[in-house]
Amino acid sequence: MNERIGFIGLGIMGRGMAHNILKSGFALTVWNRTASKMQPLLQAGAHAAASPADLASQSDIIIICVSDTPDVQAVILGEEGVLSGAKPGSLVIDCSTISPTVTRELAARLREKGVHMLDAPISGGSEGAIKGALSIMVGGEIADFERALPVLRAMGEKITHVGDHGAGQTVKLMNQILVVGHALAMSEALLFGQASGVDLAKALEAVKAGAAGSWMLSYRGPQVLARDWRPGFTIDLQQKDLRLVLDAADDVGCPAPATAFVFQLYRTLQAQGLGSEGNHALVKALENLAGFEIEKAL
Ligand code: NAP
Repeated sequence: MNERIGFIGLGIMGRGMAHNILKSGFALTVWNRTASKMQPLLQAGAHAAASPADLASQSDIIIICVSDTPDVQAVILGEEGVLSGAKPGSLVIDCSTISPTVTRELAARLREKGVHMLDAPISGGSEGAIKGALSIMVGGEIADFERALPVLRAMGEKITHVGDHGAGQTVKLMNQILVVGHALAMSEALLFGQASGVDLAKALEAVKAGAAGSWMLSYRGPQVLARDWRPGFTIDLQQKDLRLVLDAADDVGCPAPATAFVFQLYRTLQAQGLGSEGNHALVKALENLAGFEIEKAL
């Protein structure tokens, strides 16, 4: 436990992850753009930094979990950013979901200063972040991966080294293709069940443990039936990930028709001002097409 950890970005995911790092016995310094969000962590024993640079100067391992590619660039390269404070030999672990190409550029910029980097995007939702049960897909040098394992184990259960810099982000984009495919399948199945007049709560129980089961169906299906649109993962962030998928697929010349379709459905929901709802609200786009709604059943 000699490595001192710094954590930047205490949003829906980051706050649970940071709490689990503290619980595992690491010394923890935190920074969040909106300072008030640091309070629960400070009460639990973390220290506050004044900026990402200040945090980096006090940390051996710097974990970042912010929204999008420009946000990670700002936190690392900006004035008072990680790059200006980090010591040679320190390790940056980026748990945000961002562009694989920009990830490789950031790793090269940090390396010029002797700072190592891993891309380590996460999956498992807010529930997985709280429980320390995330899946973490890691890109970068194997020695850095082995160094990071103790702190990654504080946050996740399934931790996989998948290749060099950027490979973690590529695998995360594969993960997102699967997530929205499951969300679309769930939405269409529930809408069909509603139109056919079956009890949707019983239907969900009947199918979720079989071959049709998925994380989406188990965790978000009940939320749809309760018409509870609070986010584990917002539509705006989901849409950001689909844009990353479509850009990366374009780069490699790979068709991604299902992702493109779901991207357009989420766009209709954003146009209605629903971007801060959970990604399971995808069902509302199909309800709009169908002209009827799934009734509250839980
Ligand atoms: P969130 O609740 O919206 O939190 C975003 C965090 O990023 C906040 O701490 C925010 O600071 C910070 N931030 C954003 N832009 C920033 C900037 N320019 N400079 C400094 N800080 C900035 O998002 P989240 O759901 O925790 O997601 C975080 C990352 O994890 C995203 O890349 C997302 O795609 C990924 N992820 C999320 C889930 C999920 O289920 N939620 C699952 C897997 C992966 P403020 O508090 O000041 O706004």
